[in-house]
Amino acid sequence: MQFIETRGNDGVLEKKVNFSHAILNPSASFGGLFVPETLPFLGEEFLNKHLESSYKDLALDFLKEFNIDIKDEELQKAVDLYDNFDDKTNACPLIKIEDDLFVHEQYHGPTRAFKDMALQPFGSILSSLAKEKGEEYLILAATSGDTGPAALHTFRDKEGIKVVCLYPDGGTSDVQKLQMVCEDATNLKVIGINGNFDDAQAALKNLLASQSFKDELKKDGIKLSAANSVNFGRIIFQVIYHIHSYIELLRQNEIFMGEKIYLIVPSGNFGNALGGYYARLMGIPIEKILIASNENNILTQWISTGIYDIRDKELKLTSSPAMDILKSSNIERIIFDLFGPSRTKELMSDLNDKNIFILNENEIKKVQEVFNATYSDDEYASKTIKKYSEKSYIMDPHTATCLKAYEDLKDKDLKAVMYSTAEWTKFSSTVLNSLKEDENKYTDKEALEIISKDYNMKIPNSIKSLFSAKINHNTVINKQDIEEEITKFIRK
Ligand SMILES: *Cc1c(COP(=O)(O)O)cnc(C)c1O
Repeated sequence: MQFIETRGNDGVLEKKVNFSHAILNPSASFGGLFVPETLPFLGEEFLNKHLESSYKDLALDFLKEFNIDIKDEELQKAVDLYDNFDDKTNACPLIKIEDDLFVHEQYHGPTRAFKDMALQPFGSILSSLAKEKGEEYLILAATSGDTGPAALHTFRDKEGIKVVCLYPDGGTSDVQKLQMVCEDATNLKVIGINGNFDDAQAALKNLLASQSFKDELKKDGIKLSAANSVNFGRIIFQVIYHIHSYIELLRQNEIFMGEKIYLIVPSGNFGNALGGYYARLMGIPIEKILIASNENNILTQWISTGIYDIRDKELKLTSSPAMDILKSSNIERIIFDLFGPSRTKELMSDLNDKNIFILNENEIKKVQEVFNATYSDDEYASKTIKKYSEKSYIMDPHTATCLKAYEDLKDKDLKAVMYSTAEWTKFSSTVLNSLKEDENKYTDKEALEIISKDYNMKIPNSIKSLFSAKINHNTVINKQDIEEEITKFIRK
């Protein structure tokens, strides 16, 4: 399997690369992304073959279909990490909450959010490549709260990899912050920034673009790589769970083989939704993918009108921070698949230069054949959490946005799978406000204890133990000092 570039080739970089190249050096010509040249077709035969498979066996066979340049034993090691999820055989349980609506819980991994689904195996593969090549990579991550813990966890003590993780001080939940600052591996550095997530992300982008910074790293023999969701090494693992949710519906006798289903995806950078799009192309019977957003509703605007316009948009801070986004990177891969490289380059330059791009009538129709989108506000999420708690199901605020898409957009009498991307334990104070219909400021510790007692909910040990863990990272600095801090860490 070879990988090609979404914005075409600049004549300098290789025209086609293999998987390991695409994940170690994820930036393609003209600032584009890598995409698979072709996708294997799976369809019913593959589904039938895996009716009895564990999640990891399904994942392994899926990866083999892609025929990538990673040794079988490394693939095996990567998928073995799903053994550490709550249920060894079933990484993502599928729970029925309405006659035609099912929640696929993607948060049963070590850091209790869906980032683990891809970052756990991805980390294993990336570090095995670094080791094999005898190279040292620095991974820079900026996080609004879920990517950071998942990236740190997967790379802890991994040979050939150093990770620096920037987070906005005061901008994450207590639990998310503790998950980062209590990490104690020597190859990890966690830095709080005085500012918001945008500041952290902008600082990181500047560094990635800075030649003097790269030159400094070179002196130490270190290369830069990235673990954000534009890396195809994460996307490949995000196709698998969409196939798994279909198989779970078959197992639970909720659908017959070939029956179409809806997917409902709470979206930010569109990695999750892109995985569903690829699963559909690969022959999984998916009617449509319904996109749920919060008040940062750029995806709703784009999918309903074809216009992606961020000229006058400001980021709003919502109760679902992992979906607070203006530039959703992975829609580029959808645009490439539908309209090809030269059109993708054109539209992406418009977005870069003018902060707007516009699809024509024909193009809008093509997008709408697969996607439909809507959004909701924090009040809607709060009421939804309350409503389902009365049916004994506790969900987090990101998950709650899916119900709006279920209500507004599901226009056929087919079953729907909605994705739960975080456990309630990561956003417990917001969840408690919803349950109690109050606006008190609870610490996460208080909220966890109250919810666990009043609603008989289990708190996983990985969360409970955070409150007595030793804090190993207490660096909080201003943006302009980031580069110096990173250099210090590398040379220590
Ligand atoms: C990252 C994240 C999302 C958004 O997923 P994308 O793949 O970026 O669209 C949604 N919910 C939670 C809890 C997340 O951590």
